[in-house]
Amino acid sequence: MTKIKILMLLIGFFVLFSCKNDSKLPENTYKEENIVKNNGENFGIVIHGGAGTILKENMSDSLEIAYKAKLEEAIREGHEILKNGGTALEAVTKTITIMEDSPLFNAGKGAVFTHEKTNELDASIMDGATLNAGAVAGVTRVKNPIDLALAVMNDSPHVMLSGKGAETFAEEKGFQLVDPSYFFTQKRFNSLQRIKDKEKTELDHDGKTAFADPIIKASKFGTVGCAALDKNGNLAAGTSTGGMTNKRWNRIGDSPVIGAGTYANNATCAVSSTGWGEYFIRAMVAHDISALMEYKGISLQEAASEVIQKKVPALGGDGGVVSIDKDGNVAMEFNTAGMYRAHMDAEGKLFIGIYK
Ligand code: ASP
Repeated sequence: MTKIKILMLLIGFFVLFSCKNDSKLPENTYKEENIVKNNGENFGIVIHGGAGTILKENMSDSLEIAYKAKLEEAIREGHEILKNGGTALEAVTKTITIMEDSPLFNAGKGAVFTHEKTNELDASIMDGATLNAGAVAGVTRVKNPIDLALAVMNDSPHVMLSGKGAETFAEEKGFQLVDPSYFFTQKRFNSLQRIKDKEKTELDHDGKTAFADPIIKASKFGTVGCAALDKNGNLAAGTSTGGMTNKRWNRIGDSPVIGAGTYANNATCAVSSTGWGEYFIRAMVAHDISALMEYKGISLQEAASEVIQKKVPALGGDGGVVSIDKDGNVAMEFNTAGMYRAHMDAEGKLFIGIYK
């Protein structure tokens, strides 16, 4: 063999070796092979009903039973869909509508009140297989905002619609609209009154310290969310909320913001957030968890703790997430006293938790 041939052979080996390394680059874009991945047996679902100052000593036995029963009803419904071969998107949507219909949670019926004594609802959903997403913000007449978010994803060229326009879209798509009074609950109305009274006497009037006050913080949580992995290996996540009590100026939190309140990517995980929305937007919580897994190659649990226990508190925020990865591992991470949460795996093993 001549020297030139040996040199060419060496160059050949070098080129081959560099190509091999390329395949180790993170897969952050939509790929066909991400759509059907697991063996058809693995699936799972995880939900939250909000995080916050949820303390055992402030909770009556009957209320605790009611919360647990509703969480169980919702997650069982989603689990059944997955068990029967339904999609993660179907499971997420159905599970969230059950919680939206319950006055226990700050979403749909039972949503918190704005400063102007109205209810403005936000929701979002994301499909991990295609990275498609849909969201609505500030709707006041849509009974189940998560259904409308799904319609935005499936039946519109857009990702996020807001206010009156979102409701016009809802009407055009045949959604039945409800009177805004449908969302009223005395408990949430009383919370608004309590906060307003406190605001009048003790707090500043620019609304800044109002959100930092403990009483106000305690009454602002209760968002609902769900993340699921279906038998085809597809991930999806969704979130729905009334936002924060006493919010003004058409404030929009993290829940309808893709990447903050909701994110799903078949290459990594599906995440739904709950907490102080301003901080969750700034930390891009849901996407950051996915990105940590993707770029650093760490586990879902490590990524969720990094963001919830370090990044969000470092900014001054609080809250939590529920999340599930492409192998069915879940992380239910929060830095508040409690988070209403539940998980069911492929074997039907159920976990329900409220406190730390
Ligand atoms: N994240 C929601 C918001 O800021 C509130 C919550 O999760 O309870 O609108």
